[in-house]
Amino acid sequence: MANDKASDTPNEKQDKLDVLKSTQTVVKKALDKLGYPDEVFDLLKEPVRMMTVRIPVRMDDDSIKIFTGYRAQHNDAVGPTKGGVRFHPHVSEKEVKALSIWMSLKAGIVDLPYGGGKGGIICDPREMSFRELEGLSRGYVRAISQIVGPTKDIPAPDVFTNPQIMAWMMDEYSRIDEFNNPGFITGKPIVLGGSHGRESATAKGVTICIDEAIKKKGITLKDASVVIQGFGNAGSFLAKFLHDSGAKVVGISDAYGGLYDPDGLDIDYLLDRRDSFGTVTKLFNNTITNEELLELDCDILVPAAVANQITEENAHSINASIVVEAANGPTTLEATKILSERGILLVPDVLASAGGVTVSYFEWVQNNQGYYWSEEEIEEKLHKVMVKGFNQVYQTAETRRVDMRLASYMVGVRKMAEAARFRGWI
Ligand code: NAD
Repeated sequence: MANDKASDTPNEKQDKLDVLKSTQTVVKKALDKLGYPDEVFDLLKEPVRMMTVRIPVRMDDDSIKIFTGYRAQHNDAVGPTKGGVRFHPHVSEKEVKALSIWMSLKAGIVDLPYGGGKGGIICDPREMSFRELEGLSRGYVRAISQIVGPTKDIPAPDVFTNPQIMAWMMDEYSRIDEFNNPGFITGKPIVLGGSHGRESATAKGVTICIDEAIKKKGITLKDASVVIQGFGNAGSFLAKFLHDSGAKVVGISDAYGGLYDPDGLDIDYLLDRRDSFGTVTKLFNNTITNEELLELDCDILVPAAVANQITEENAHSINASIVVEAANGPTTLEATKILSERGILLVPDVLASAGGVTVSYFEWVQNNQGYYWSEEEIEEKLHKVMVKGFNQVYQTAETRRVDMRLASYMVGVRKMAEAARFRGWI
């Protein structure tokens, strides 16, 4: 039995956690359901361009350290590619490729004129000084400058990168290009052409998906209990929005553990005490593990940290009626099947976390037109886009009798396949 974990060989177990393989599996299923021939899958299963770079950085002790970085451009049939740059010790070529495919799917679901891109550097920014991070950020841009640009591929922030890093990258690109070029990158500080609402955009998008999902389940936010794994950019803004809307946030966690209070946590206090890497639980003694956190009794569970958190090993023990994936790839395919069979509504990552790239698109549009929108205008536009995306995926799931993940891939892949066909590529 494919789902019987006891009978899995080590290779089979590895495959189930291979995010690129599982993404390709669902892309293939989606294309088959839509009736596309095999060559479309052949085109879309890998990025059209993948660059590996080696970046020398002079460290504070005067030694030179060489970092490895990647930039993947999944498909540019619809328009320039777009996606974040991740700084993390676990960055890998496979993960960056999978993330670039997810970006294409997100752009398709919320109907942006982009293909997907993604970048990553193997490093631990928590161990690096401000000056070393600046050297690494500028070195990365010099290394990939030939293949990126406002009409080619537009980077943005991701895990452990922030507006300051975007500012250094934009400055370096502007120097190479010899003119000020804010549209090269999004997620910039507001004074450098950043957009209002970008920092909280992913969490806002997740909140909008939660609003739509609870309507389907007949729950109201005021009576809902919520558990959030991860207290970084996505998780902490989300906790604040849900807490302010009257929901009871009973559990949160970071990389070091979780906090639980059935009466609701004091979110404002926790936000005040968290550090810039989203760590807060180290300040407490009475913590629970991340594994325990995921199995807490609640209405809405939001994985907002890292990949492969809900697997076939714990999917039977999830005690939520709705799972909304703010993180990229937190649920394996085997777990998706178990949750769906158990009647748990799963809002997949490529839909739920599309708020970030949507407001990044708004930032790029504002940079291109040189005219800037207010926070209210951004919120209104984001709301429209996310509600439309959610309902398109939900209706596809209902009418085609597929789970929400497959439905989101079907919606996400279609525009890309059509654009490639019209261009005569396939
Ligand atoms: P972040 O770096 O700001 O925060 C990450 C949080 O996860 C921190 O609280 C960290 O302590 C915690 N964490 C790290 N490893 C963990 C582990 N093994 N177990 C439990 N918690 C762990 O990152 P972020 O920007 O909030 O991104 C979180 C997730 O959301 C990622 O999967 C990212 O790809 C996805 N995402 C983020 C955005 C965005 O705009 N920030 C957009 C789309 C998707």
